[in-house]
Amino acid sequence: MISLKNLTKVYGQGEESIKVLDNLDIDVAAGEILAVVGPSGAGKSTLAQCINLLERPTSGQIIVNGEDLARLPERKLRVARRRIGTIFQSASLLSRRTAAENIALPLQYLGVTPAETKSRVGELLEREGLSHRATHYPFELSGGQLQRVGIARALALRPAVLLSDEATSGLDPETTRSVVALLRELRDDLDLAVVFITHEMDTVLHVADSAARLHAGRIAEQGSLLELLTDHDSVLGRALQPRLA
Ligand code: ATP
Ligand code: MG
Repeated sequence: MISLKNLTKVYGQGEESIKVLDNLDIDVAAGEILAVVGPSGAGKSTLAQCINLLERPTSGQIIVNGEDLARLPERKLRVARRRIGTIFQSASLLSRRTAAENIALPLQYLGVTPAETKSRVGELLEREGLSHRATHYPFELSGGQLQRVGIARALALRPAVLLSDEATSGLDPETTRSVVALLRELRDDLDLAVVFITHEMDTVLHVADSAARLHAGRIAEQGSLLELLTDHDSVLGRALQPRLA
């Protein structure tokens, strides 16, 4: 699971400084998908960069499996990052490497043996229904297949948390549904805590167990989908409601 406590991110110094994240408290349990929504500029990607330790929060905690990652010394960050798998909008695969080689990359960096790497990559490809595309290059894959390879690569180091920043944006509705179905399967099979950032309300409804709405760096509301949908005062609930039909 992952818990963010009083997470604050300020960019810049003095009068020039802007507070992009303001005291966020968010919990995502193992086996839960939390959707994070909010208007452009609300701080969603900054939140993602803090969670995957590319940016240091200004204050607050990022607790994964009981350990605060926000204050780790630099030399420990590399190892800590393995607990967070990240998928991106464009799967950002290396174009001169096959699907299997892309997935193997994080394992090779870590010095995992070739035999172990081969077996883990094979497992991941199979789980994602991509065994028949192992030796294909990114340009030979569909958008959905690219995103699946990206997901497999994110899972190669067996993270506790899967983080997605607009990973389905730009996919057509049917491909989005298949990626969403895969994420839900992985949530259950691997007991992942998933943070799923999106601006697509339809996707929220299909993917999420719970949702948080970010506005100007603060959490405007959060709750289970059921709570939000049944709360007449919930902005998020009212946005989701008509899509239920
Ligand atoms: P979008 O939906 O458009 O992707 P977002 O919710 O992901 O938006 P962020 O990218 O997190 O928004 O940006 C939030 C705010 O922080 C914006 O006002 C942005 O200009 C500012 N910001 C982001 N990164 C930096 C940075 N490195 N330095 C200064 N300001 C930044
Ligand atoms: Mg963003």
